[in-house]
Amino acid sequence: CADIAMSEAKLKGKDNIVYFNDQMRINSNRKIEILNLLHQALEQKEFKLHFQPIVSLESKKVVGVEALIRWFSKQKGYIPPLDFIPLAERSGNIREISEWVFKEAVTMQNKLDALGYPIKISINVSAKALMSPKFLQAVSKLVKETKADPTRIELELTETALIEDIRESIRILKSLKQMGFIISIDDFGTGYSSLAYLHKLPIDILKIDRTFIHSVTTDTEIPVVEFMVNIAKELDLSVIIEGVETEIQERIVKRYGCQYAQGYYYSMPLDETDLIAFMTHEASNE
Ligand code: C2E
Ligand code: MG
Ligand code: MG
Ligand code: MG
Repeated sequence: CADIAMSEAKLKGKDNIVYFNDQMRINSNRKIEILNLLHQALEQKEFKLHFQPIVSLESKKVVGVEALIRWFSKQKGYIPPLDFIPLAERSGNIREISEWVFKEAVTMQNKLDALGYPIKISINVSAKALMSPKFLQAVSKLVKETKADPTRIELELTETALIEDIRESIRILKSLKQMGFIISIDDFGTGYSSLAYLHKLPIDILKIDRTFIHSVTTDTEIPVVEFMVNIAKELDLSVIIEGVETEIQERIVKRYGCQYAQGYYYSMPLDETDLIAFMTHEASNE
């Protein structure tokens, strides 16, 4: 743990003199605290999955949910995924966490199936996990163990993960496609894009990052989003737009031909009980 604090100090330090400011100290200390707690979080059962509905803009129906990890630490309260996933990637227990997420997501999907809601489930896959040598082996083992149906499981990957080693990415993605998985690019447009290799990757869906519609409050055009939707059409990919919070935003992205949307306008990420209530309510509105 001290390593991380040290290397950060080195980056900022001049001629062996290390300058700490308060903000840095807090950040490094928090990282160290999180790292120390992270290793026990699984056995302490401090993780939960929440699920955020993804809707079809045409039919207005829920077509799937994205599984989002939640960590309620007994010592530190809620810790957001972006505060600990990168640390788990470095500290080595991302693999256990990913396996837990996969099993938990499939369990939820089975419950929804049994209730008559046979929808897709999306799972975020960490870059480090994807590129680790035993990833494919681990995934196919998980599929067998859980009797999951990969044709209804979408794996969300980020561009940055894929671009680091394009050939290896293509190989892994092809194997995942062979198993039946649906593949999407998460946070599309925010990485070191993209167009040069996009057509080479065996992917199905682009998820356009919410930063592109974030500030839209009036019925104006969003050329970047229109451009990305057109790329998707060109490459025969579906589009999910993330972070739709208002009716105006929905109207615009729909006009551009986005097929699916996700965001607070439809629903926050929900725990199991609330998700089932949400699905039941949706079904009764038909
Ligand atoms: P992401 O995969 O892009 O997930 C979408 C994030 O946007 C979620 O944040 C979600 O709560 C938030 N969001 C959804 N709709 C709206 C909206 O209308 N407005 C705003 N402002 N935000 C919205 P969250 O849950 O904090 O997750 C952050 C990131 O952490 C995720 O980004 C994903 O990269 C990562 N993550 C979450 N769960 C997992 C997991 O199980 N495994 C891995 N490897 N990464 C995960
Ligand atoms: Mg995601
Ligand atoms: Mg995203
Ligand atoms: Mg995002």
